[in-house]
Amino acid sequence: MTGPNMPLERHFFLGFIQKKEKNVERKIYFGIKFVFLYQISNMKIKEVVVALERFAPLPLQESYDNAGLQIGLTEAEASGVLLCLDVTEAVIREAEERGCNLVIAHHPLLFRGLKRVSDSTYVERCVREAILRNIAVYAAHTNLDNARGGVNFKIAEKLHLQNVRFLVQEGEGGSGILGDLPVEESPIAFLQRVKETFQVDCLMHNEGPAHPVHTVALCGGAGDFLLNDAISAGADVFLTGEMGYHLYFGHEPDIWIGVLGHYQSEQYTIDLLGEILHANYPDLKICQTAINTNPIHYLK
Ligand SMILES: [Zn+2]
Repeated sequence: MTGPNMPLERHFFLGFIQKKEKNVERKIYFGIKFVFLYQISNMKIKEVVVALERFAPLPLQESYDNAGLQIGLTEAEASGVLLCLDVTEAVIREAEERGCNLVIAHHPLLFRGLKRVSDSTYVERCVREAILRNIAVYAAHTNLDNARGGVNFKIAEKLHLQNVRFLVQEGEGGSGILGDLPVEESPIAFLQRVKETFQVDCLMHNEGPAHPVHTVALCGGAGDFLLNDAISAGADVFLTGEMGYHLYFGHEPDIWIGVLGHYQSEQYTIDLLGEILHANYPDLKICQTAINTNPIHYLK
């Protein structure tokens, strides 16, 4: 979802006059109506961060991760937010062109420490570009994966799954989700629907059991570590973004495996981020990147 790019109307109350007509006292209020042609947010970057972390607290992230504010000053005013899955130099330039000084990504730009900020890697170039253009960068990664209502719940929503619950619950959050189809579908019909919903050019799958699909387990991105949990939970299908070749073997009696591609599986995370921010700050300018940042191309 993008924020409303409509003029904002604001009414300012100035006062009232009191009138007495036929013993009935009336107050006539008067004021001025302003129409702003551009949205103004008057919101600090730290307030945007607070809203995101209320939904997806940083302690929910995996130990290897580096979610949170990566570049920028929390006290700066947010002129607008550009949402993306991945930070690239083109995304940072796009943010500047569209008047957004905050880029919110799913994947962290800074994952490991940098020993220098030069121009030899794309990460270093992005850091330089962001700082030179005064653009802050924030990442909501595995904390958003593991949050209730997070990345995997969004995927489940797109597939109209019901009774959605964590596949592996850990405290307030969890890894992967399970959900039920309102009406059972044949495995191939279900995978075909997944392929269309996520615009997957080539959905990879194994050959699983013949019975219809009722329960679906899924984890966006690199979720193959949850395959055995999906089987233990009795899921009929396990969907994820990427999966090692050898893991496809031997599951014919257990489960269907459907692999969408990492980017494809997580693409609606951008909508999710927009919805979280818009619910908190309806006046905040929210844009979705127009750039497909999937680094993998498909020769058809
Ligand atoms: Zn991912």
